[in-house]
Amino acid sequence: MSDEWAEGGYGFDTLAIHAGQDPDPTTGAVVVPIYQTSTYAQSEVGQHKGYEYSRSGNPTRTALETCLAALEAGRTGLAFASGLAAEDCLLRTLTKPGAHVVIPDDAYGGTYRLFAGVLAKWGVEATPVSLLDLDAVRAAVRSETSLIWCETPTNPLLNVADIEALAGVAHDAHARLVVDNTFASPYLQQPLTLGADVVVHSTTKYVGGHSDVVGGALVTDDATLGEELAYHQNAMGGVPGAFDSWLVLRGVKTLGVRMDRHCANAQRVVELLQSSDKVAAVLYPGLPGHPGHEVAAKQMRDFGGMVSFRLAGGEAAALEVCRRTKVFTLGESLGGVESLIEHPARMTHASVAGSQLEVPGDLVRLSVGIETVDDLLGDLATALAGV
Ligand SMILES: *Cc1c(COP(=O)(O)O)cnc(C)c1O
Repeated sequence: MSDEWAEGGYGFDTLAIHAGQDPDPTTGAVVVPIYQTSTYAQSEVGQHKGYEYSRSGNPTRTALETCLAALEAGRTGLAFASGLAAEDCLLRTLTKPGAHVVIPDDAYGGTYRLFAGVLAKWGVEATPVSLLDLDAVRAAVRSETSLIWCETPTNPLLNVADIEALAGVAHDAHARLVVDNTFASPYLQQPLTLGADVVVHSTTKYVGGHSDVVGGALVTDDATLGEELAYHQNAMGGVPGAFDSWLVLRGVKTLGVRMDRHCANAQRVVELLQSSDKVAAVLYPGLPGHPGHEVAAKQMRDFGGMVSFRLAGGEAAALEVCRRTKVFTLGESLGGVESLIEHPARMTHASVAGSQLEVPGDLVRLSVGIETVDDLLGDLATALAGV
């Protein structure tokens, strides 16, 4: 699926704009058209131009899939209707009833729900462990372990796992390492180059970047696994429509410039939070005192746009801050151009309450957007002053 752009030694931003996106050969259209069609004419039975039916393949989706493969330095990219559709396809390709998987004890709530509420019924057992403790990961791996699931930085605690080390643990056990790269985006971190076998994305977040579409993706460098995943994508059918593919493709062109601004704004927000006596702790991998700082500095280009913090005044103060911001919109999701604030324990992570993945009630999570940074700082300072 890789095209000549991916093999041409071009930089990340060039690939984001051109990989899979050559001008349309029939019209010269510079932007990949939205091929809003379910089926394709055949000149004779079985004679077609590579497309038969849009669940199996659609040119707008192909452009997106080729671009995402190039951005993650992989061979095969596959797009899905949501991040969870991508995860489901991947897990039902890599596991079978009786399989065992190792999952993080700090992960996106929906991923945990997929393991606990869906795959468990299908006979797949998941063991949550801290991925920061490689000995614990090694101890959790069994002969029937088919994969280690890694998310880094994690949502919402922003822990950092060492991808290269985890790939070693997985491969020693003949298991695969899957990395959910949603928080970092391929601009900040390329797990396949660090030894991971498959990358998962919720393209709803930074890749799409504009909070206007829900989507997911898988990328792998393993051609055989890529074929199996493509088979399951078609057989299970969780594909995105042409317009949604087009929206993600439009968003991804600016991923690099957006991420640079997300990171710069997040750094300033972190400094503000650290100077506030209302804040008990700031969780951000860019801080030298963060336990994952060195690993993050090694495997990431920069430290990202997600910032979490704990309030000295406990859960009541956390809820009050969420009520008081104006530029930071109170809402779930992340990775869009606009800044968002949320209370993980009652919002994004409500589904893990009572489990080993439960998050503290005094925690607030920010998705720092690309607005004028002084407006973000002023908004947070005002909100904190009121709690
Ligand atoms: C949002 C998210 C998902 C799920 O993606 P959807 O597009 O909402 O299905 C998976 N992993 C992470 C880290 C996420 O933030």
